[in-house]
Amino acid sequence: MMDNTGSDDHIRPQRLTDFIGQDDLRDNLDVFIQAARGRGTAMDHALFYGNPGLGKTTLARIISSELGVNLISTSGPVLERSGDLAAILTNLSRNDILFIDEIHRVPAAVEEVLYPAMEDYNIDLIIGQGPAARTVKIDLEPFTLVGATTRLGLLTSPLRDRFGCIFRLEFYSPEELARIVTRAARIFDLEVTGEGALIIGKRSRGTPRIANRLLRRVRDYATVHGSGVVDAEIADMALKRLDVDPLGLDYMDRKILSILIDQFGGGPVGVKTIAVACSEEVRTIEDIYEPYLIQCGFLKRTSRGRVATARAYQHLQKTTDSGRLF
Ligand code: ATP
Repeated sequence: MMDNTGSDDHIRPQRLTDFIGQDDLRDNLDVFIQAARGRGTAMDHALFYGNPGLGKTTLARIISSELGVNLISTSGPVLERSGDLAAILTNLSRNDILFIDEIHRVPAAVEEVLYPAMEDYNIDLIIGQGPAARTVKIDLEPFTLVGATTRLGLLTSPLRDRFGCIFRLEFYSPEELARIVTRAARIFDLEVTGEGALIIGKRSRGTPRIANRLLRRVRDYATVHGSGVVDAEIADMALKRLDVDPLGLDYMDRKILSILIDQFGGGPVGVKTIAVACSEEVRTIEDIYEPYLIQCGFLKRTSRGRVATARAYQHLQKTTDSGRLF
């Protein structure tokens, strides 16, 4: 299949057997899907949490295709009023999947509507205003709510407790990412050697979305500067030019660590100060950059702020104030 769109949709795995990695999660989900399918009932509500690009949306789609039901997608910030959610819920067909991305951003008043919907498949609608207002209970078709969040801690406990299964998505290993790259390349009709795929896998920050993005860029270099095949040499050359270092750190990762070390003596320093110094948003630093820097052991979150570790000094070849090279 040709890839003309630049969109990731046609390389997104459609079935659970195509989904690479997250083995325990996949095994458990397989059981819950099979059980729901066998009973002909809605699957229990499921919550996925983890960093962006690890596969939460993909899993929601897989659940719907495995169960042969519709997937209706929305996101927390879009659901401004309880009426917005009520309109979606009352239109669901039996056993459909309602996917709410960024579920931690659902406003409190809208969240209240979710509680009876999730627990008893009904909602209370208020009709009219003032003294004439009355509440009408509306029954819903059984459905499965699939929530996705990067911030489990921001979910209220009443909402969290209503999910029957809570799944944490982990960063992927370089080998798993290499398999994801090889699979995407097959769909692109692109030849990738095992070594080429592994080099991309090692530099993708444990994240499939980044692996697929890097593969597209490396493919461009392979087309223009190589024979069209993504081998180790082309992958290495392309990623160097894209400023992605051997551990997958990009320009911004290195900037955050350099600012921490050069301007603040390695910390501790508050994330807001780092954000201002990097001209980035606090949320972007917290959600996109920090988790991987922490995972690599380059950054520590302490009660007094962020601290660069000895590994960060070594990786960036920096010396401490006393001139010591770690
Ligand atoms: P966000 O929360 O930022 O939307 P997400 O966790 O929902 O991210 P997805 O959109 O599901 O992430 O995944 C990003 C891309 O990575 C998808 O287009 C898909 O092709 C690919 N992908 C994710 N997980 C896997 C996997 N396990 N195997 C193969 N490809 C994957």
